[in-house]
Amino acid sequence: MARYTGAVCRQCRREGMKLYLKGDRCYSNKCAMERRAYAPGMHGQGRVKVTEYGTQLRAKQAVRRIYGILEKQFRLYYKEAERQRGVTGSNLLVLLERRLDNVVFRMGFASSRAEARQLIRHAHFELNGKKVDISSILLKAGDEIRVREKSAKSEKFSALSELAASKTAPEWMDVNAQDLFGKVTALPAREDIVIPVDEQLIVELYSR
Ligand code: SF4
Repeated sequence: MARYTGAVCRQCRREGMKLYLKGDRCYSNKCAMERRAYAPGMHGQGRVKVTEYGTQLRAKQAVRRIYGILEKQFRLYYKEAERQRGVTGSNLLVLLERRLDNVVFRMGFASSRAEARQLIRHAHFELNGKKVDISSILLKAGDEIRVREKSAKSEKFSALSELAASKTAPEWMDVNAQDLFGKVTALPAREDIVIPVDEQLIVELYSR
């Protein structure tokens, strides 16, 4: 699967906001946005005139980066969101939120979506009782995620169990941190999704 391989913190600096892509580091003073909160590159500290197009593009890039999705795949999510009934921008966020990697992260079984993707790729989870290694699967109400028995005994997952216990899971899921088990109880609504971007700007961008 193709993925972004550049410097991770550079993405936050480009968007001018914390995207929380690196787990614990994002909450420490090692965060690049704490030390260099300006765009990367030679002209990063210069004055830039932001156009309407630029604002829309930045909104799209920020969402794409938060969920760790490449452009082509993001377009496919957008097409699907457009096809669905309701508000396209909200549909798009709900689709992204339903991805397995995001759900694992929201449940607290990974410190970032990138870590969730890696753990899924290494087949540490079961979805509805079956081994799963595809991060992009869209979950639905009733789906159950469990850390596989062998993995659950590892040091890594005892630490993640503590992490999950310390987090408050969103209302649309139930999490049993001790058993490393979680269930999607309902599909998320737009108001359940907290991200610092106005999705309407993405709709405007793609409607040009
Ligand atoms: Fe972004 Fe986290 Fe890097 Fe800070 S540490 S710049 S929030 S990825």
